[in-house]
Amino acid sequence: LVVLDGVNKHFGDLHVLKDIDLTVHQGEVVIVIGPSGSGKSTLCRTINRLETYETGTITIDGVPLPDEGADLARLRADVGMVFQSFNLFAHKTILQNVTLGPIKVRKQKKDQAEERAMELLARVGVDHQASKYPAQLSGGQQQRVAIARSLAMEPKVMLFDEPTSALDPEMINEVLDVMTSLAKEGMTMIVVTHEMGFAHKAADRVVFMSDGAILEQGTPQEFFDHPKTDRAKDFLGKIL
Ligand code: ATP
Ligand code: MG
Repeated sequence: LVVLDGVNKHFGDLHVLKDIDLTVHQGEVVIVIGPSGSGKSTLCRTINRLETYETGTITIDGVPLPDEGADLARLRADVGMVFQSFNLFAHKTILQNVTLGPIKVRKQKKDQAEERAMELLARVGVDHQASKYPAQLSGGQQQRVAIARSLAMEPKVMLFDEPTSALDPEMINEVLDVMTSLAKEGMTMIVVTHEMGFAHKAADRVVFMSDGAILEQGTPQEFFDHPKTDRAKDFLGKIL
């Protein structure tokens, strides 16, 4: 569903993505881990076309990433993204946050979009907060709204970039639970996270990045129990 083939990217002199080959199949959950600065966020942002790249190709569902223009809005709708910071619109209600994209980009009617939004808010457990504003919600609740907002666009794939790292410990699990249930329902997901419990429970594959390259990958069992490279061993030694 998502195919990266020989993708290279620089920030000035810094070679931040080095010959990235990565194929994510329909329904697959891929966890991306690696040291700070290894290029995990850049990888996500490149797949969502928030960043450009110089060589290689990226296709989503067989369609190459567009250069610019209207197709970009369409791409962003197909590729949902949830960030570390929740990025909700502060001056819109929770319900409006979720319906905005479907009405604008997917051209849904308002009542149809609201009905669907309420279903999604119920699914992530914040439907009773629909008329509130983001600042009135906890971090965990806001992040669940951000997930509902992405799902409302009916994305083909969901990207998560450290979705729980800005949350208080007691709120991490409520967000991971939503993500785990999404994974079980067959959503194709690329998740940057160091939450090992989640990786064991939900991941089909773990991809380890170091210095802009994919150094190794395997099932969670393979990778966590038998890392092959010294870089991965060293990294796991620090976080486990
Ligand atoms: P972290 O775990 O800290 O989130 P990361 O693996 O997500 O790290 P990236 O944010 O992708 O790493 O950054 C990869 C490298 O690119 C880093 O060296 C970073 O300083 C650099 N970088 C990221 N964004 C930019 C930018 N807009 N301009 C210049 N350099 C950048
Ligand atoms: Mg990052």
